Amino acid sequence: MSIANLARRVVRALTPYQSARRIGGKGHVWLNANEAPQAYPFTIEGSRLNRYPECQPAEVVNGYAAYAGVNPDQVLVSRGADEAIELLIRTFCEAGEDQILICPPTYGMYAISAETCGVGIVEQPLAEQPLTASRQPDWPAIADRLSDVKLVFLCSPNNPTGDLVGRDGLIALLEKARDRAIVVVDEAYIEFCPEASVVDLLARFPNLVVTRTLSKAFALAGIRCGFTLASPEVIAMLAKVIAPYPIPEPIAQIAAQALSPMGLELMRERVVELNKQKAAFKAELAKLACVKAVFEDKGNFVLVRFVDGAAIFAAMKAAGIILRDFSTKPGLDNSIRVTIGYQGEMDAVLAVLRDLPSPTL
Ligand SMILES: *Cc1c(COP(=O)(O)O)cnc(C)c1O
Repeated sequence: MSIANLARRVVRALTPYQSARRIGGKGHVWLNANEAPQAYPFTIEGSRLNRYPECQPAEVVNGYAAYAGVNPDQVLVSRGADEAIELLIRTFCEAGEDQILICPPTYGMYAISAETCGVGIVEQPLAEQPLTASRQPDWPAIADRLSDVKLVFLCSPNNPTGDLVGRDGLIALLEKARDRAIVVVDEAYIEFCPEASVVDLLARFPNLVVTRTLSKAFALAGIRCGFTLASPEVIAMLAKVIAPYPIPEPIAQIAAQALSPMGLELMRERVVELNKQKAAFKAELAKLACVKAVFEDKGNFVLVRFVDGAAIFAAMKAAGIILRDFSTKPGLDNSIRVTIGYQGEMDAVLAVLRDLPSPTL
């Protein structure tokens, strides 16, 4: 069975919007899209902003395919990974009928996108591993729910706990889910531990989807550029649903630069630097009495369980340091996520922790 058969009925039957770009052809006089004849006065050297952009800019798609080690027909570029998440739900889940499965605590947008699309949510909380700080998807529980869900969202490294999804568990799940459900692995932070990517499994499992982004390690959150990596059948289905012109031309230019050999080298240098900064920060945290536990650390952040999370959050806020409080999430009482910034920023966080009044400890 083709994995595309899991798509919604309307999507399977859909003829995508025939944009002028899609049906354009090769001529040199372009009068088919109601564009202006010239770009003025706001323009960028070498770009033709009076024209609609390509739906899937070739330079960006090819650049990302080469970087990720897949074929260009396995790549879809979108407005951030957030759009990729929503597209997956809009392509595969019937409103009021289908459900997704998530493993909380995890990234919030899977649930938000499902809710706004009228799609149900099955929760299977991450299971704490004995004797370690790490957490894994509850594989047997997920397998039991496979006939109830269309999409399983896993996040590796997981935001906010920093855990990687175990490869053996994932492979066993992909096998059980064959022809039944799509397993999405969100690799938004994978550049911080590239050896843990599961992209190589795309060759074996047409029901695996990997989402990526330029927002984290590539330092380009402002341009809103993300990627879906999947089998050509899944990409073709998503391409039917995505907007006709999702990626503005200036964004495509910046993304292509980021994916050039020099862009990749810069990204990798920054990752080494941030991983060093993270290790140093964790070593200092280990010395502090106000810290109860540090979670896994595979992303560009660490989740820290404090003795008194609320007091720490307030002290940071008073010092002008904005962190992310996760203490209301199940299993994360007193826990705060700290993004790894540059040295001066980490020193500022440590200075507040060292100067806490003793009742807070
Ligand atoms: C930041 C983040 C995203 C969103 O990425 P964008 O490309 O900025 O939309 C997706 N997934 C996870 C786990 C994230 O932390």
